[in-house]
Amino acid sequence: MKNIIFIAPPAAGKGTQSELLCEKYGYAHISTGDLLRSVNPTSELGIEINNLMKTGSLVSDEIIFKLIEERLQKEDIKNGFILDGFPRTIKQAIAYEELVNKLNLKDYVVIYIKISENEAMNRALGRLGCTSCGKIYHKVNSKPKTEGICDVCGGSLTSRDDDNEELFKKRFVTYLEKTQPLIDYYKKANKLVEIPSNDDKYITNEMIEKVIIDD
Ligand code: ADP
Repeated sequence: MKNIIFIAPPAAGKGTQSELLCEKYGYAHISTGDLLRSVNPTSELGIEINNLMKTGSLVSDEIIFKLIEERLQKEDIKNGFILDGFPRTIKQAIAYEELVNKLNLKDYVVIYIKISENEAMNRALGRLGCTSCGKIYHKVNSKPKTEGICDVCGGSLTSRDDDNEELFKKRFVTYLEKTQPLIDYYKKANKLVEIPSNDDKYITNEMIEKVIIDD
């Protein structure tokens, strides 16, 4: 099976779709946002990361490349992996191409989740995540059975610091400037599959199986 890169505006549901596909097909889920959030926030690196994330800007390529290269050396990627949040710029895409060659990684397909700014903002402002297992909920569209408590593990649910209106808008501008050019880039490379996002379960088995099976 081919590896998968997800491209989408902030809060489009890359993380949720990645989790579903990981459960179904045994992929490893590599979210650069989660990798960044897991760096100790009191360390020098953690402080630098948080200061950038707080403004809706991208974290430096140097930090991202190091995290990704380390992550791609782990054993669990052998059965395939999903990149959720990387590459986010043309420069990162070129660096990823070099990594594919250097680490002898399998071929990949790029899935672009198309969603309007309003819908993405609605998802960001309603998003809740479990502090223990990471499962994602939505305050209105996909509520937990008991308010504030994760259905799966009983952990407590919180909103991400950057899921407020002001920061969402900044993240969206960053997306338009830096990430959207990747859509044309991967279209030209014949790697892009576009999926319109209408509801939570928009990626069907048929859609995904058609694109991830090796030639
Ligand atoms: P979302 O897709 O909802 O914006 P993520 O968890 O993917 O959320 O990313 C959160 C933040 O982490 C981004 O706003 C950015 O600051 C940083 N980040 C994540 N991935 C990258 C990347 N590949 N390059 C630079 N910064 C990144």
